[in-house]
Amino acid sequence: MILSSLQRLRDYFDSGITKNYDFRKAQLKKLKASILKHEQDLYDALYADLKKSPEETWVTETGLVISELNAAIKNLYQWMQPETVDTNLLNLPSTSKILKEPLGVVLIIGPWNYPFQLLINPLVGAIAAGNCVVLKPSEFASATEAVMKKVVEDVFPSEYILYVQGDGAKVVPEMMNNFSFDHVFYTGSTSVGRIIYKMAAERLVPVTLELGGKSPCVVESDANIKVAARRIAMTKFSNAGQMCVAPDYVIIHESIKEKFISAIKETVEQFFGGKPEQSENYGKIINEKQFDRIAGYLSNGKIVFGGRTDRKNLFIEPTLLDEVKVNDAVMNDEIFGPVMPILTFKSKGEALNIIAGHPAPLAFYVFTSSKAKENDWLNSVASGGSCVNNTSWHLTNHNLPFGGRGFSGTGNYHGKYSFDTFTHKKAVLKTPTWFDPAIKYPPFNGKLKLFKWLIR
Ligand code: NAD
Repeated sequence: MILSSLQRLRDYFDSGITKNYDFRKAQLKKLKASILKHEQDLYDALYADLKKSPEETWVTETGLVISELNAAIKNLYQWMQPETVDTNLLNLPSTSKILKEPLGVVLIIGPWNYPFQLLINPLVGAIAAGNCVVLKPSEFASATEAVMKKVVEDVFPSEYILYVQGDGAKVVPEMMNNFSFDHVFYTGSTSVGRIIYKMAAERLVPVTLELGGKSPCVVESDANIKVAARRIAMTKFSNAGQMCVAPDYVIIHESIKEKFISAIKETVEQFFGGKPEQSENYGKIINEKQFDRIAGYLSNGKIVFGGRTDRKNLFIEPTLLDEVKVNDAVMNDEIFGPVMPILTFKSKGEALNIIAGHPAPLAFYVFTSSKAKENDWLNSVASGGSCVNNTSWHLTNHNLPFGGRGFSGTGNYHGKYSFDTFTHKKAVLKTPTWFDPAIKYPPFNGKLKLFKWLIR
């Protein structure tokens, strides 16, 4: 059944209709209109799944996608244009250009933590690039999954954009093992990313893997402590810490640790009041399985702030853990919850040793007022992306490529980078026939000197 649906996507793509500029632009506009039509349904769904407020939903989910759509609609014509490039001496008087070809039928698989934007943002790039798309949302954010189905199916026929629900461990292999996609774009855990990569390798399908990991946050002795506390708490406790680019743990210069802890306590109270469970600005954990996993970390180190939980309401208080050891569980796994371990350093080498336990994170953050230290840290830690005196916001600028490296992922997207991810760059060399010197053809004897001049 699913295979015949996939074949219909292939036929639709082969008809050539999706390659047309006007077609692509019209689909982007339809998607935007459908999102805005279902704006309230999306607020309700994201509240039901993760207790996100409408404001948080606009900034981190719907509004983010609308801004990607606006950029794609505005720039699509320019993105699609062939690029003329220089031709080397050997090939003159040929001309050279790069054509932008759609890939074909692509599969996009999303996670549950930002269930809307992490599925629909890549869709924007895939449509802009002229592809047919299979969308596989996460089954764990079920209210959002149901509304996204309406958003998509209201405006797109299933032979163009196919919305496939169900248990990922079942439906994804069913598709990937029986159908050759032209690209698979996966966002989720590193362990499932490895399964996706293996299945793709069997059919030599290219992949983008947007994975997770432990993103470190270094706070130097010369940092603005108050601002650092605010910006770290903001993204560490947003969506109850269930954010792939949340600062996973803080490594702070020993000399300012106590001041920083006080600043974080004050900040959290300002953000969510004394009872975050009653705050409309504080989210909930997605389900019991994740709750139990995160709550398990509370026995590591010493709780200096927070620590209360309520399993029935999937609530875990913003929590600070001191005296954590590098081999504690909370320092081995990606936390993906509102629990923040604080480790200290005296010398940069000590901090680098801690970070080296989890190389190439999705993001690396440093707070410092010294330009020299900023450069030194950026040069010392390889990561997917980075912020200086900030955390996570780099992902909201669509002029920056967003993606990981190594265990945190491969490939990137957002804005023009999304278009490029779903586009094949076809190299074309065009050679006129009026000039066809014999030197280019055998016999080659005696031509070495000339070849050395031409190819250098
Ligand atoms: P997950 O890996 O459990 O699931 C993601 C998707 O994969 C879902 O759609 C699911 O149905 C599907 N899936 C699950 N098991 C599968 C299998 N065996 N075969 C094929 N598909 C399968 O991830 P999650 O728990 O939803 O997301 C949390 C993880 O995602 C965290 O590690 C987080 O850091 C990471 N993440 C990364 C980014 C990023 O942009 N890099 C963004 C959000 C989340």
